[in-house]
Amino acid sequence: MQTYEQSLEQAKQFLLEHDDFLVVSHIQPDGDAVSSTVAVGWLLSCLGKKFTLINEGSIPERMQFLLMSDQIVNMEQNPLERTFQHVICVDCADFGRVGLTERYFDNNAEILNIDHHPTNNGYGSVTLIKPDAAATAEILYDLINISNVTWNQEIATAIYTGLLTDTGGFRYSNTSPKVMAIASKLLDYGVNGPELSEQLLESMTHAQMKVLTKALRSLQMTDDGKISWVCITPQDMIDTGAANEDLEGIVNYPRNIQGVEVGILFKVINDQAVKVSMRSAGKVDVAALAQSFGGGGHVRAAGCKIEGAMETIVPEVIERVRSFL
Ligand code: AMP
Ligand code: MN
Ligand code: MN
Repeated sequence: MQTYEQSLEQAKQFLLEHDDFLVVSHIQPDGDAVSSTVAVGWLLSCLGKKFTLINEGSIPERMQFLLMSDQIVNMEQNPLERTFQHVICVDCADFGRVGLTERYFDNNAEILNIDHHPTNNGYGSVTLIKPDAAATAEILYDLINISNVTWNQEIATAIYTGLLTDTGGFRYSNTSPKVMAIASKLLDYGVNGPELSEQLLESMTHAQMKVLTKALRSLQMTDDGKISWVCITPQDMIDTGAANEDLEGIVNYPRNIQGVEVGILFKVINDQAVKVSMRSAGKVDVAALAQSFGGGGHVRAAGCKIEGAMETIVPEVIERVRSFL
């Protein structure tokens, strides 16, 4: 078993020894996914390397201020014409999370897997996985520090964004002393903390508020008050004009109710599939729960996609949660 420091060194060698990389994160990217993608891009540019940044879909509007975020290719709009031998996956708990971007990987591609999900199964030829890191951005902070490059305000802002969003504004239990120490350094590099909190966590579009209202109207709870959930249907998305990124944070509402152990958001994709987001108050390991449905995540925040109709999936998930209580 190699140490974290050895893994960092190995990842650094992967960057130094190769060139012409494809950098990818998970579908429907969150703050950590976008931050990690651009941070790797920035590091590669400092090292004088060629690279392409890509995601299966678009980058949420509120993150489009991040450096190099305009360079992340949206493959739905701009499919690539070639494949890559060297791929860097960031914040992807399992290989499937890269979505359709997989088609740009050479058949025998060498993959560097940088992630912080405890459910990461170690895919790839080089792995840099730290399950107790609050965000993949925390790992990239360390990688940047051993790479002899000079920090500036823009890259510091990207790393801060990953930390801020994955810790829910430095509030969740993953907010370790190390996270606070890194945040302090990043503020020294010129990061505007309050402005980022406002933009990434506080401010809402009208569509976001409308879809939150719909979700709260659907709120349900088990008789014992330990499981609570909300549902969002395709019709809700049409009625409110909301995008998937507008659903971020809604799952916290059922979880925040006193006495609730597991809060769930069921996002109906269509008649055949539902995306399930789960949050734990602390007792239930929702990563294990999500994994039992083929998904993954963290002990207190996890997700999965389940094939089937909402009418059958909701009771099935609630029953499974009960068995974990
Ligand atoms: P979400 O509920 O989508 O905010 O995701 C919560 C956590 O679970 C994040 O860390 C995700 O990376 C992880 N996660 C969500 N969906 C999946 C999935 N289908 N497979 C593996 N991990 C997931
Ligand atoms: Mn993520
Ligand atoms: Mn993350």
